[in-house]
Amino acid sequence: MFHATSVSEGMGMARCVVLYRQRPIIAERTIEPGEVEGELERFSRALIQTAEQLQEIAQRVKEVLGSDGASIFESHQFVLEDQVFLDEVSRMIQENHLPADLAAQKVSHKYIRSFESIPDEYFRQRVADIKDVTTRLVDNLTGWSQHDSFSQLSEPSILVATDLTPSQTVQMNRQMIAGIVTEQGGVTSHVGILARSLKIPAVAGMQRATEIFRTGQELLVDGYRGIVILSPTQEDTSHYTRQMEQERELEHLLELDAAKPVVTLDGRKITLTANLSQPAEAEHALAAGANGVGLFRTEFFFFNRGTLPTEEEQYEEYLRVATCMGDRPVVIRTLDLGGDKKTSILEFPPEENPFLGYRAIRYCLQNTGIFKTQLRALLRASASARNIKIMYPMISGIEEFAEAQAILQECKTELEKEGKPYNTKIEVGVMIEIPSAVLCAGELARKSDFFSIGTNDLIQYTLAVDRMNPIINYLYQPTHPAIIRLISSTVEGARHGNEYGGIPVGVCGEMAGEIELAPLLIGLGVDELSISVPNMMKVRRVIQRVYFSDCHRLACQALQMGDSARIMKLSSDFVRAAAPELFVDRLSRL
Ligand code: PEP
Ligand code: MG
Repeated sequence: MFHATSVSEGMGMARCVVLYRQRPIIAERTIEPGEVEGELERFSRALIQTAEQLQEIAQRVKEVLGSDGASIFESHQFVLEDQVFLDEVSRMIQENHLPADLAAQKVSHKYIRSFESIPDEYFRQRVADIKDVTTRLVDNLTGWSQHDSFSQLSEPSILVATDLTPSQTVQMNRQMIAGIVTEQGGVTSHVGILARSLKIPAVAGMQRATEIFRTGQELLVDGYRGIVILSPTQEDTSHYTRQMEQERELEHLLELDAAKPVVTLDGRKITLTANLSQPAEAEHALAAGANGVGLFRTEFFFFNRGTLPTEEEQYEEYLRVATCMGDRPVVIRTLDLGGDKKTSILEFPPEENPFLGYRAIRYCLQNTGIFKTQLRALLRASASARNIKIMYPMISGIEEFAEAQAILQECKTELEKEGKPYNTKIEVGVMIEIPSAVLCAGELARKSDFFSIGTNDLIQYTLAVDRMNPIINYLYQPTHPAIIRLISSTVEGARHGNEYGGIPVGVCGEMAGEIELAPLLIGLGVDELSISVPNMMKVRRVIQRVYFSDCHRLACQALQMGDSARIMKLSSDFVRAAAPELFVDRLSRL
């Protein structure tokens, strides 16, 4: 059993596929006698897989170069049929108790050395062929691939990787991914966020996972407890089945609440909105009873493509999502590229500290062409979808906000000249995710229409804890007194807006989706919680089962406390008492 950080709830059990950044070094090791049979089988499977790949390549080459070119790859097959080679690998597995990958590599090296030493030119030329085919065979045994082999998985598998990029994650065929284990990342890394919205059980921060696991091994990923089990026992399997049954029962219970309004027992209405990473999630949000979209991350348009999305394309997507949500508000956040979200179609210079660097609004203000294309698309979509609101990420103070607003104004003027309509009353909000923005919240509130607190970044910037770094993950504390006080200050600052009637404050970081923290946020005066769709049902149930007056008292108590663990316990005990059914066999994630 291996411990990691839980980033997405749920459990998955399947064979694993290990994705390596670089070809792995195969460690010298021996296997137990009981493993011999399995390793021989693994070797046979890899032989078949290699033969199939060679056939496929030969076929593709034939289409392009004709039969002559393809004959090289057909001749590669002979290496796989060489009885001396096959017997020697099998002997190493059976007698020397070597794992299949190590045995195949050792015999291949021996073959290559002996061919290289033959003075005959013909044999020396065959060395390249042998290297090619044996390397492919060994790669198939270790699971190494230069390509993202997970996009071609043929059976549900657990992915094990050093790290996954958000662009790899969105490419995944959900049906084929039973779970994710990564060495890096954490709850608020964008891969974690995506895994949750795709409902893929995931753990992160498991050190050396890609060295410990081998492709083909059976793994159980427990995203509730942050555990990975190698070769699960019968008992593990029954625990898994029981947990899945409980989860289904709970889901059924929660569905009954979906149609009821999101109000506390003493009548305080809370807006429960969805975080979307892809347009297709809008339908799920609607089905889960969302009151709108509190954060639509638009970076994902820029992934896995060769050209930039055009104004027309963006216009259509924004319109589609906004129309799908009916008259419910849809907050569309302008581009937040940079940090852990890079795309190959745009150039990002190497940076020492990407999260403190060329990111989000900073990138947009220096690349106004890209920014304006997006703003124009948003404005045009707002002409018929009047529920669209615009939100700027990573605003550090009023100058940056004013600069963004000036560009928005330029776009409005252009559209007017072109005779293209837009909603002249479109609301513009600010993401509060840098401590300086909290300290200037009063000024920002006077200029904007709403705030949305991005706790994922606010925590990392306030506590100086990289949200991606598993080594210091324990310092990433949403209930740190500094964070609780900053949220309270933001609410206070918001009161200075809209000519002193105040502007609404939401939270759209992952903290908003933590059932144990929702009453604390509400008690601090937050009006809206924007969360990923799978968490929505549980958070709704919590809100429906508490009194706002109690939440307020809870928040006042928390504001007096000086340490994270005590605030977490206070808040968690409060929620556990109000909705114990949500905690069946479940440990707190944060
Ligand atoms: C945040 O920082 O809390 C947030 C919602 O933005 P992102 O996670 O996309 O950085
Ligand atoms: Mg952010």
